[in-house]
Amino acid sequence: MPGSRKHAKKPEWQLSIAKERIGRLFALAESEFDSHPERSHKYVLLARKLAMRYNIRLPRELRRRSCRKCFKYLKPTITCRIRTSASQQAVIITCLECGNIMRFPYRKEKSAEKSRRAAKAIE
Ligand SMILES: [Zn+2]
Repeated sequence: MPGSRKHAKKPEWQLSIAKERIGRLFALAESEFDSHPERSHKYVLLARKLAMRYNIRLPRELRRRSCRKCFKYLKPTITCRIRTSASQQAVIITCLECGNIMRFPYRKEKSAEKSRRAAKAIE
């Protein structure tokens, strides 16, 4: 990358740029998947490397879009299977590439839904 220099400390503006790039890489992974699934996996890997370099935690909605184990892009029905488990109160995502199983508790999603509804009620 042109002009990229290494700094010991990452200023806030660099972090926000990195976050933006991570979001864009995932968006690219999504849009390229149908025609070039290998590219999608590469974008996800790049996004993860960025997150690691800048010590950024992937946002929740992006975390479930790539496998924690093999780092492949997770596309429902193609590279992953999504199930909800009432007993575990979680979304269970199985990576079809390596068989890794990830659990995402959906308690937070419900409260997000609630606040969305609350916001609508105010309107
Ligand atoms: Zn996997």
